[in-house]
Amino acid sequence: MLRTSAWDGWSGAPGRPHLPSDVPATRSIRPGRPWIGRSLSTGARAEHAGMTSAHHLYALPEHRRLDLKARFPRLTEQQISDQLGRTLQLRGAACARSDKRRGHLPAVAILGSDERWHLRLGTAMICSNAARMFIDLDVPAPTPGTVIPHSFRTRFPNGSVGLERPGYRPDWDVVLTGQEQRPDLVPRAERCPINLDQGDWAPCSVVSRSDWKGRKRNLYIAAAGPMCHACGDSLGQDLHYDRYTELITGLLCNECSSHINECPHPAGCYQADYLNAPPAAHLKERYYVGGNRDDRKRAVGSPAA
Ligand SMILES: [Zn+2]
Ligand SMILES: [Zn+2]
Ligand SMILES: [Zn+2]
Repeated sequence: MLRTSAWDGWSGAPGRPHLPSDVPATRSIRPGRPWIGRSLSTGARAEHAGMTSAHHLYALPEHRRLDLKARFPRLTEQQISDQLGRTLQLRGAACARSDKRRGHLPAVAILGSDERWHLRLGTAMICSNAARMFIDLDVPAPTPGTVIPHSFRTRFPNGSVGLERPGYRPDWDVVLTGQEQRPDLVPRAERCPINLDQGDWAPCSVVSRSDWKGRKRNLYIAAAGPMCHACGDSLGQDLHYDRYTELITGLLCNECSSHINECPHPAGCYQADYLNAPPAAHLKERYYVGGNRDDRKRAVGSPAA
């Protein structure tokens, strides 16, 4: 639902519906293209004249405005503002909290007969169904000796597995041992692969000297806790940073990481509250954006930083 928002095309990825109106007037103008004239929007002309009608953008605190402009260097202020206006219509007075909570219950890693660690969230094994959304959390806790059927194919509520007929044998079985471990101490390579990146596993807190992101993530967890610094409803996974200052703002869950930058509200919703004053932003750690580790989204055709 939210994933299909119009902002998804903002990076200017090929095949997205926003081209060519996405292409700002200030660059990449090739002669002879019929849309060039239209791309000099009223907003762009207003900026040239030292004024703007980008009121949705200018309603935001200055640091959020600068961050959005740095995120979408190929869009004019008018285009960003119009997109904020459309999102405002979709989201109403406040951004709604997601009902997809992840990593929100006490969790423990349990060693299996395959010598991998499997995650128990509350009483449920999160690898018991390849489709995270179908996992029933209200089940009895497994005990040593419990067999967990593993498959990369979805087990639907009616019992069918992927495209196979009901009763089809799962891909492999794992017998749980009695050995338990704190999830954040388990290296990624030793974790069960089913639903590994669905947001329930804590990021590994044991980091090497060269793992700059892991080290900084640990600092932000120490400052404001392991739950998402914006919603508090799900486990924090990724560092969020300001694209203008390149300073890390905090740790977000998967859901907030995907959508928080689209929040059009100057204040009055949990996403705006976070963006306005992230609880661990005082650490002012720099997000590493140099060299070949730069994983920022970059507009197609723009030069490497
Ligand atoms: Zn909002
Ligand atoms: Zn497993
Ligand atoms: Zn969140």
